[in-house]
Amino acid sequence: MQPELSVSPLGFRTPGFCETIGRTPLIRLNALSDATGSEIYGKAEFMNPGGSVKDRAALGIVLEAERSGALTPGGTIIEGTAGNTGIGLALVGNARGYHCIIVVPETVSQEKIEGLRAMGAEVRTVPEAPYSDPNNYIRVSERVAAETSNGFWANQFDNLANRRAHYQTTGPEIWEQTDHRVSAFVASIGTGGTLAGAGIFLKERDPRIKVVCADPYGAAMWSWFTYGHTEISDGESVAEGIGQSRVTKNLEGIEVDRAYRIPDALGIEIVYHLLRHEGLFLGMSSAINVCGAVKVAKEYGPGQVITTILCDSGARYLSRLFNAEWLRAKNLEPKARGLEFLDRL
Ligand code: PMP
Repeated sequence: MQPELSVSPLGFRTPGFCETIGRTPLIRLNALSDATGSEIYGKAEFMNPGGSVKDRAALGIVLEAERSGALTPGGTIIEGTAGNTGIGLALVGNARGYHCIIVVPETVSQEKIEGLRAMGAEVRTVPEAPYSDPNNYIRVSERVAAETSNGFWANQFDNLANRRAHYQTTGPEIWEQTDHRVSAFVASIGTGGTLAGAGIFLKERDPRIKVVCADPYGAAMWSWFTYGHTEISDGESVAEGIGQSRVTKNLEGIEVDRAYRIPDALGIEIVYHLLRHEGLFLGMSSAINVCGAVKVAKEYGPGQVITTILCDSGARYLSRLFNAEWLRAKNLEPKARGLEFLDRL
């Protein structure tokens, strides 16, 4: 799926921006592996050039749209997103010659809006409204795309190019990087592209590989995979980019062996554990994924090779996860000195 490596003016085969997406390192989480007796690895998606796992989906969506003719030279990419997908689309768009319009709820932080604008995206804000309301930002983005000449709606939730990007890159990379010994893959769900794409690929290689969902509170995916319904709305989470309440097209037909619900109070312990003891500066969705990986290690016993996703950097959350006042107000201050939180997982 990745484009051919470009050839530099000096004749070297050198990667341009888009070719540097993916092929991220797989990092052993040393303390958690040693403590559980399983090998636990995190895929360093925060090292993608746009800073998150969503670079893969953004590139995959754009390349497929180019191939199908849905996106034509000089065209405009439109998406409803406040987060990492917007960044990925804006940067891939710049690199391949497309304008980008990002529709966001007006409640989104000014920081994010200014960040997207700095990257060259046109940002349109709309009042906050539920998905069922036609004025919801995702629904508005679809209409903006229909009204824009040469407009292309990325539609990350229901466009299967998203999960195909992970089927074609994330899954094979994990398979190769673990020497085909991976026994479980854990991911949380925003669109579901990562879990479904990599999960389907790995199950095809070896159906014994466990595909596992780590869900924050306030989402419905744990309930969907465990009980087959999404009528659940208890709790909440500060995690950004994850927390899905409907079965997106990207999630349709995937086989999930196990789902866990992870409270933020444990997630924050892992955020600080990974930072202080592994040197990994990450956001909450990465921590929820790692909590899920530890739960797999505990439930299925030692000797496994468990892989998960380190989605984006803690630098995106300085004013929240790494702000003492904010943590205090949310009653989320990390307390552990060592690994004592493992007993609660
Ligand atoms: N973590 C973060 C920080 C994200 O931005 C996203 C994407 N929304 C995810 C996890 C989940 O990825 P996916 O959309 O592939 O389910």
